[in-house]
Amino acid sequence: MREKFSQRPNFTELIHAERFLMSDSHEIENVKKEIEKLRKEIQYHDWRYYVLKDPVISDAEYDRLFKRLKELEEKYPELITPDSPTQRVGEKIEGGFPTFPHSVPMLSLDNAFDEDEVVEFDKRIKRFLELSQDYEISYSVEPKVDGVSIELIYEDGILKKALTRGDGFLGEDVTQNVKTIRSVPLRLISEDFPQYIEVRGEVFMTTDAFRKLNEELMSRGERVFANPRNAAAGSLKQLDPKETARRNLDALFYGNGKIVGKKIGSQEQLFYELKRYGFSLVPEWKVVKGIKEALEHIRYIQRIHKDFPFESDGVVIKLNDFDLREKLGEKARSPRWAIAYKFPAEEVVTRILFVENQVGRTGTVTPVAILEPVRIGGVIVTRATLHNFDEIKKKDVRIGDFVWVKRSGDVIPEIISVVQERRFGIEIEIREPEVCPVCGSKLYREFEEVAVRCPDMSCPAQIVERVKHFVSALDIEGLGETFITQLVSRGILKDISDIFYLKKQDLLKFWGVGDKLATKIIENINSSKIVPLQKFIYALGIRYVGESVSRILASRFRSLEKFLSAKESEIEAIYGLGPAVAQSVSKFLQDQKNMIAIQRMLEAGVKVLEYKEEERTGKFFGKIFVFTGTLKSMTREQAKKLVIQNGGKTSDSISSSTTYLVVGELERGSSSKLEKAKKLGVNIITERDFLDMLRD
Ligand code: AMP
Repeated sequence: MREKFSQRPNFTELIHAERFLMSDSHEIENVKKEIEKLRKEIQYHDWRYYVLKDPVISDAEYDRLFKRLKELEEKYPELITPDSPTQRVGEKIEGGFPTFPHSVPMLSLDNAFDEDEVVEFDKRIKRFLELSQDYEISYSVEPKVDGVSIELIYEDGILKKALTRGDGFLGEDVTQNVKTIRSVPLRLISEDFPQYIEVRGEVFMTTDAFRKLNEELMSRGERVFANPRNAAAGSLKQLDPKETARRNLDALFYGNGKIVGKKIGSQEQLFYELKRYGFSLVPEWKVVKGIKEALEHIRYIQRIHKDFPFESDGVVIKLNDFDLREKLGEKARSPRWAIAYKFPAEEVVTRILFVENQVGRTGTVTPVAILEPVRIGGVIVTRATLHNFDEIKKKDVRIGDFVWVKRSGDVIPEIISVVQERRFGIEIEIREPEVCPVCGSKLYREFEEVAVRCPDMSCPAQIVERVKHFVSALDIEGLGETFITQLVSRGILKDISDIFYLKKQDLLKFWGVGDKLATKIIENINSSKIVPLQKFIYALGIRYVGESVSRILASRFRSLEKFLSAKESEIEAIYGLGPAVAQSVSKFLQDQKNMIAIQRMLEAGVKVLEYKEEERTGKFFGKIFVFTGTLKSMTREQAKKLVIQNGGKTSDSISSSTTYLVVGELERGSSSKLEKAKKLGVNIITERDFLDMLRD
């Protein structure tokens, strides 16, 4: 071969070769053209079908186009591109979903539970912007889709990434699964899209698809999803995109992150642009003038939202103008320029089948009604709390009664009242139990308390709840409720300290636990051994001691040793804590069993770190940072986090109290913050200076 190539070809051979190459490249060019034409046609028909819901060709014609494209791509695999319609369903995702930072954090929304709160929102904005209270601000009023938020990143019109909200700063890369959603454009339509755009919206499952999926899961004996939102979230996190594709997810869009190469100045313009690029928009959005019109449209959406094919849990009201949004800025978790009006809780009637008495972490026995399954706002409810036995007496609830059940947002459903007209007279009275349903100890009531309690700290139900709380407080992964219950019932866990004495062999005895999982759990337990004092106090699960009380206690006593010898009077004297906390903590500390458990944990290598007041220390303590422009080495949110971790504060606007303005790359060479900082004589530093300050 080599020899042949080294020979110089003669003239005829050259002509042949050239012809061959020419015809070949000619053919390739033609194939390329045909492929491109087919892709455009398919994309157009997908858009007609999945976005506009108005197809213009028959299924058979569509299938013919698709088949032809597949044939060509099979013959010329080098011409396959990731944005081809044939590439919607990819291969299995190995090793979970990688994370990726959002350029602009994906925040949550503040809630308004009634119209007054929406009016107050409007007033607040006007005060903030120093506008007269008569001024009529333009708002965009849109249904709130109850799904999973998503951000799509398009570069040069091609879908590059799809991220979940994650913690708001880092999202999970679910691109492969999002590509299976047929209404999501893999390429943008229209020629003048921005060179880079992050489009935000909601992935959801229609109520119909949800019902079908649950029926299918039920028929296979698998666990059903409680509501369409959970079903959408679960489907988006499937490791096999084929399975996600089968789940029929859909998406609607309403927002943006970073945009480069085009100025979009309002929500209204954004909607028009997104529509042109081929996105499905949230339905019934409307830009209104003034809060009165906004309320009218909110009421309208509230009246018709039941007809949407998806679940909607409220209405979002957003400032229309993007410049004004920037002036208002954001709080830590939500923007100041938007609010979510939540629909009032829904109530339905169902029947009580029986009552179960649940024993909690501190021994409280709570009666829970087991209900004939019923849908409330898209969720299937099977249990509702009856709170306590006094409440049962007051409402005169009996087993077999038809009752009104209410569910609002994520709170536990509760029984509101009995439908007296539907009583037959054979309903059974609910008796207050005398002994613990789990360990049989005699129950007691504390003075003036409504709760009935099991006194035995070694009651298995209490141990399970305490361990569950401990494990979740210390973020120990891998020990779920079922597993904990089994470990307790086999006597392997008798109190929380036993967690640190678990051995791999203990775990391997359980069905479904292999070497890998057991090793991982032990590793997780070991890495939770170094724990800050406030977290440790919280994890102990003392009655009335939640996260904020734990922090107060830790900041007062500073070390575990001092906390353990705290006196009731000392605790009661702490500003912000009352006698109930003081009594509960000192009772806990006086109990020999608790002290032994803590001692055992320390002996097992648990190290409780002394309390450190994060904000009063750190090199940036007392300094306020403002950022402008794009940073190169990190996102603005990461930079802000670093400032806070180092004891400093950040702000979104320049004032005379700003210590530093950190200037990144500026699109127009300057920014309003930079101008203002110059005027006020604020220290202006570069990203490099900022990084050096961090390193010093
Ligand atoms: P929450 O998670 O309850 O604080 O609600 C905020 C979330 O509502 C946002 O993160 C979005 O995912 C979602 N959402 C649904 N529809 C809209 C909409 N039309 N505009 C803005 N956010 C929306």
